[in-house]
Amino acid sequence: MKKAILILYTGGTIGMAKTANGYQPTAGLLSKLMTEDRAFSHEDMPNYEIVEYTPLIDSSNMTLHHWNVLAKDIIKAYADYDGFVILHGTDTMAYTACALSFMISGLNKPVILTGAQVALTEAHSDARENLISALLLASRYCFPEVTILFNHYLLRGNRAHKIDAIGYNAFLSPNYPPLAEVGSELLAHTELFCAADTKPLDLHKYNPIPLAHFRFFPGFTLDTLEALFHNPLRALLLHTYGSGNVPTLDKKLFSLLEKEIARGVIVANCSQCLKGHVNMDSYATGRALQEIGVISALDMTPEAATVKLQFLCSISDDAAWIRQQYVHSLRGELSA
Ligand code: ASP
Repeated sequence: MKKAILILYTGGTIGMAKTANGYQPTAGLLSKLMTEDRAFSHEDMPNYEIVEYTPLIDSSNMTLHHWNVLAKDIIKAYADYDGFVILHGTDTMAYTACALSFMISGLNKPVILTGAQVALTEAHSDARENLISALLLASRYCFPEVTILFNHYLLRGNRAHKIDAIGYNAFLSPNYPPLAEVGSELLAHTELFCAADTKPLDLHKYNPIPLAHFRFFPGFTLDTLEALFHNPLRALLLHTYGSGNVPTLDKKLFSLLEKEIARGVIVANCSQCLKGHVNMDSYATGRALQEIGVISALDMTPEAATVKLQFLCSISDDAAWIRQQYVHSLRGELSA
C-alpha cells in the first residue's frame, strides 16, 4: 500500500516568485507546480497532501509561535500519516529542526525539513530534487527523528548548520555523519538513526526566554557584555575560541559572569569552531569558565546550543535541573 505523507508548507524560497521587491512567497504556486509535474504522481512516489500556512513566510520571520503551531499540527495529524515533510526557508531551517526535535517526545515517524536555494519556478532550481528526495525518504524509511534533507543528504536536524548562502550544498552536519544519501539509489545508514522513542507522543511548547549571545573577539569590551545584564536574563550563550577558551587576564570577566550564575542565569559555552567540541579542561583559559559554573555545549551546533536553552528554560525554572539536562543528549544533538 502507498504511504501517506503530509506536507506542511511554511514558505521559503522553494515556492517564491520574483516580485518588484525581490523574491516573495506566493500562495498556491507550489501546489500548482507540483500538480503539473508528473514526477510527483509517479508510481514510486507516496500519496501526499499539502497544508499551506497563511501567510507563507520567509523563514527569517519564524517565531516560537510558528514552532508551536507546526508541532501541534504534526501531533494532530500523526495517526493519519506515515511521515511529514516540512517545506521551510533555509535561513532558519536548522533552528526549526532543533526546536521540533526537542519539543516532540515519543516521535516514531520521519519528520523531514527541506527547501531550496533557487525557487521551483526557475529552470536551475534545486527545489524539485530536494522535494522528491524528501518524499521518497519519508515514505521508505521509518526513522524516528527530525531531519533536514538538502542536496542529496539527509542530516539529523539538530546537528545541521547552514554553511552556504548561495550554493546548493547549503547544510553541513559538522559532528555527526549524514543519515542517508540520495544517489542512483537511496542509501540509508540505519545504524545512525535515533532509537525509537518509547515515550507516549507529547508536545512541550516554547515560551519567550530572555536569552543573550556574546561572541568573543580580540578587542571586545567588558562594558558591552555588562550591558546585557541590565535587564534580567535567564540564559547566556558564550561563543568562545577553539575548545571553549576566553581571555583570562582581566578577572572582571569572571566576577561578572559568576554574579549572574549565582542569580540563576544559565551560562553555556559554545565554540566558534563548528567541528570538534568544547573541552574546558584543555587550557587554563577554558578551565577558568568551568570553575565559575559555566556549562559546556560540547559539540552542539550554535543552533542546537541556543534552542536547547530556549527549550529547557521553557519547561523548567529549576536551574540545577537545566544545567544537568543541557550536557546530556536529549535527541542525539550532542555526542556523549
Ligand atoms: N530567505 C529565505 C528563507 O529562509 C531563504 C531560503 O528559503 O532559502 O525563507
